[in-house]
Amino acid sequence: MKISRIAAYRVDLPLHEGSYNWSGGKSVSVFDSTVVRVETDEGLVGHGEVCPLGPAYLPSYAAGVRTGIAELAPHLIGQDPTALGPLNRLMEARLKGHSYVKSGIDIACWDILGQAAGLPVCTLLGGPHGDSVDLYRAISQEAPDRMAAKVAGYRAEGYHRFQLKVGGDPDTDIARIHAVAAELKPGDVLIADANTGWLPHQAMRVVRAVRNLDVYIEQPCLSYEECLTIRRHTDHPFVLDESVDSIHTLLRAQADQAMDVVNIKISKLGGLTAARQVRDLCVAMGVAMTIEDSWGGDIATAAIAHLAHSTPAPFRFTATDFNSYVTVSIAEGAPRRENGRMAASTAPGLGVRPRFELLGEPVVEVP
Ligand code: MG
Repeated sequence: MKISRIAAYRVDLPLHEGSYNWSGGKSVSVFDSTVVRVETDEGLVGHGEVCPLGPAYLPSYAAGVRTGIAELAPHLIGQDPTALGPLNRLMEARLKGHSYVKSGIDIACWDILGQAAGLPVCTLLGGPHGDSVDLYRAISQEAPDRMAAKVAGYRAEGYHRFQLKVGGDPDTDIARIHAVAAELKPGDVLIADANTGWLPHQAMRVVRAVRNLDVYIEQPCLSYEECLTIRRHTDHPFVLDESVDSIHTLLRAQADQAMDVVNIKISKLGGLTAARQVRDLCVAMGVAMTIEDSWGGDIATAAIAHLAHSTPAPFRFTATDFNSYVTVSIAEGAPRRENGRMAASTAPGLGVRPRFELLGEPVVEVP
């Protein structure tokens, strides 16, 4: 089987809540997502999706996804999409770095591999483990009482894991964490995610001020070294996210015992092939994971579901269903949340069918 054509589509994903706000005053109201389509000479077609969290979160941006695909795609025509190892090596040889550009292509090729094998991607990745996976809800940064009210509302929808967007003014963040903690019920899990937003002295104040609360601290500061310093001054369970962007950074962090949980964002690592490698290593090392992406709609959520559902349950700290945050459904067959959980499709491949009437004409086409 050979890749015969690669196309990319641009789609806007507005948010039910109107906007999503996190550290440093960053905010997005409409996500710019890219759907990747990989066609083959045997008629099988696969899809992937890449949606950066705006241009100022990770070193990635929406137009860069499409520009990168236009750069890379001519080298991939004629390659076997089911040979994921050689394909990923070729992508790295033709475009150094820019992992997020490769993610959508890699996911689409897993979709093709699953269809060719007649198996869901979840099975090819080693699953399924259990019937479904626990989800977290990200609580956009607002006033403390508003965030506490959001937690109560999302619990009523079935969520029991809440990731608070902090990383702002430390006094307000301390109030946010206390206000939400007062809302928690037995079995709930609280994560305070600063998204790199605190300086070390601010992070140190926050962890002291919430010392008696049952809360995870996620990526308090910008650099790995700063995070490690905070980690060594607190006994809160500790999550690294932005600092772990490759197997190399994961190995270093594990050698330093720098975290208890790692956030696996599929596009940050470069697709399901790389994410699976990091996932398997985390399992071997005893590190739990949040399995997710930077953002996305139905196709990104489907890829998350397959990776999460193929991860042994004890290591699945949580996962996310981004398609429930946005007002537009870009594919049929995507996972739908039920009681705070979701399951990977049991159809071959990713199990999604993009709504091309909504996606319109491709913005990148090779050839
Ligand atoms: Mg995070």
